Amino acid sequence: MMDPTKIIGKWYQANKREMPWRTTKDPYLIWLSEVILQQTRVQQGLPYYLKFSAAYPSVADLAAAEEDQVMKLWQGLGYYSRARNMLATARTVTRQWGREFPSDYETLIQLKGIGEYTASAISSIAANEPRAVVDGNVYRLLSRYFGLSTPIDTAAGKREFASLAHDLLDRQRPGEHNQGMMEFGALQCRPVRPGCDTCPLASACVALREGNVERLPVKSSRPRIRHRYFNYLVLRENGRIWLKRRGTGDIWQSLYDFPLVETSGPVDEAGLLSRDDFREILKGKLFSVKYVSKVTKHVLSHQVIHARFWELRFPHAPVPEHNGFLRVEEQKMESYAFPKLISNYLENNL
Ligand code: SF4
Repeated sequence: MMDPTKIIGKWYQANKREMPWRTTKDPYLIWLSEVILQQTRVQQGLPYYLKFSAAYPSVADLAAAEEDQVMKLWQGLGYYSRARNMLATARTVTRQWGREFPSDYETLIQLKGIGEYTASAISSIAANEPRAVVDGNVYRLLSRYFGLSTPIDTAAGKREFASLAHDLLDRQRPGEHNQGMMEFGALQCRPVRPGCDTCPLASACVALREGNVERLPVKSSRPRIRHRYFNYLVLRENGRIWLKRRGTGDIWQSLYDFPLVETSGPVDEAGLLSRDDFREILKGKLFSVKYVSKVTKHVLSHQVIHARFWELRFPHAPVPEHNGFLRVEEQKMESYAFPKLISNYLENNL
């Protein structure tokens, strides 16, 4: 009978991509790579891993960093709450353990931003703990190979797949095994157009035999997509521009954007100018609209932002003062971290 664990182990040795985090047993660096690679493709995450591990070679170095520096280095990677949680965790770790990053599952799982998956990955790779990881790649591989249609986003699905992954675990080499499972899912048993033709598991793969490959894994629900309409006010004067640091409870926390009027749908110039929140920002100053951009669609995981940039000119009076906004010299914009939507606009318009 086919032993998928052995076959995947062999496949991994022959096919694994060489990655810097695969040559270390340092739990801090493994954690760093895991945080960066959540919801991010390896090729996109790699330069960020290199930047972060060079700038902050130990957890104590990261803990001592300013939040703005960390956000700036993270710019362009998205899902910014990861960066904030990462910094908070680094500070907690340093307070409790100094320069030592924990490597055992029970300690790791108590840290902010570290769930079962990350705790299993770190403890198995850094400390050889027999903990099986189940990430998206592993769900896909297991559901197809065993032909399982239990939805993976339900409690029953999570239990079933975790138990299966645990049964398959190579207890002698849990770290290698886990990485092999994830790499196999990423490269061979891919979400679209999986490599069934060249797959060493093909002869025993239930989904392939039953023609269900494209239908697995099953998810019970699709998240509702929220559409939001952002009208950014670009206020510039004598080489300076207004920025706003985004607050808590919404996307892009701690990043910078422009003064914003959010509306429930698209608005034209008359509609925008008559709004109270727009007038509140302008404080009754005379202005003219210098430029209005086309609508840019920016897609996030559960939201689509429809953004429009309104550049305003103030012919007779300085730009109004306003609490909560910063006036920044355009030459110094480099040191602020922006969401991609804003950095794209700045690249094309500044
Ligand atoms: S045969 Fe296809 S579906 Fe089955 S494990 Fe291999 S790549 Fe995945």
